[in-house]
Amino acid sequence: MFFFELINTNAVRINQRLGKKMEKEKDRVPLITEIQRYCISDGPGIRTLIFLKGCSLDCPWCHNPECKSPEIDIYYHEDKCQKCGKCIEICPQRAISWLSSKKEAILRDREKCSKCLKCVESCPLKALEKVGQALAFDRIIDEALRDRAFYETSRGGITLSGGEPLFFPEYSLKLLKKFKAEMIHTAVETSGSYKWEILEEIAEYTDLFLYDIKCMDPTMHKRFIGVDNKLILNNLRKLSAVKANIRIRVPVIPRFNNNKENFELLVDYLQSLENPVLAVDLLPFHNSAEKKYIQLGLNYAYKGEPFMEKKEVEWIKDFLEKNNITTTIGGIIGPEEV
Ligand code: SF4
Ligand code: SF4
Repeated sequence: MFFFELINTNAVRINQRLGKKMEKEKDRVPLITEIQRYCISDGPGIRTLIFLKGCSLDCPWCHNPECKSPEIDIYYHEDKCQKCGKCIEICPQRAISWLSSKKEAILRDREKCSKCLKCVESCPLKALEKVGQALAFDRIIDEALRDRAFYETSRGGITLSGGEPLFFPEYSLKLLKKFKAEMIHTAVETSGSYKWEILEEIAEYTDLFLYDIKCMDPTMHKRFIGVDNKLILNNLRKLSAVKANIRIRVPVIPRFNNNKENFELLVDYLQSLENPVLAVDLLPFHNSAEKKYIQLGLNYAYKGEPFMEKKEVEWIKDFLEKNNITTTIGGIIGPEEV
């Protein structure tokens, strides 16, 4: 019961704020949560992943909850905390309190917190950590170009991830243009839930899209994520028509999309595209993000849910391949001819 209440509450909240939020963030310079080097997934070859902080959707299973909000966030590392109470004393908003009378941990009220970071600065043990950095554009580029030699030998490159790169269309475009000018292979991970004009412009500088299709049923899509999938599917159709290189990513989620009907509809849809996608990558649910939700003080709808084993999604791979759709479990590892 709690699971669906949580999902529905999130979905309604997201739906209400979506339009306003997207317009506001359009020209914003994103915070970066991480620049991850030497990655061998999320695109072909050896890659550098740039994680932009902010997303217009709110998938309840999201593996990067620290990238959902475009604002600064704070991790609480309970294992480092010595319960000295300094952060409670210093907080001007009275947003921090003891979790219980036993003083075993602290609790930050996310609504009250103004992100002044006084608690982070005052914690003697670095038990509170700022999440998200405003990095200079040139620094991001320099960091990514350090591995140019690896990209060349492995046919790798950079991947814009998050969060959602298209949440910051102007900035993502600027990054992609620069990387293309440097002859670097570019990939963009996206939910596709944005105006076609944005995607069309981004496509000119993107060698590969890693495009999420979460669920074919629009009602389920809206119930879990807050928006239906019409725009996402329409955009994918248009991307296919302009001959973009596309890998579809399907997070396989228990009680959401893990059923035959969903994949039958996916096959019908993919076969109706003007140009075929390169492949479908199945990403079985895993709960490794649970700790991050706890550290951020966020609710996690999949608390205690066991991760899915590879063998649990093999039937989907078999089914898609029978329908002539190249499929992986987990995505590509190593070089690929795109
Ligand atoms: S200041 Fe740091 S160590 Fe002290 S209670 Fe707060 S989080 Fe824990
Ligand atoms: S960042 Fe938030 S919790 Fe920390 S001191 Fe400022 S208002 Fe209080």
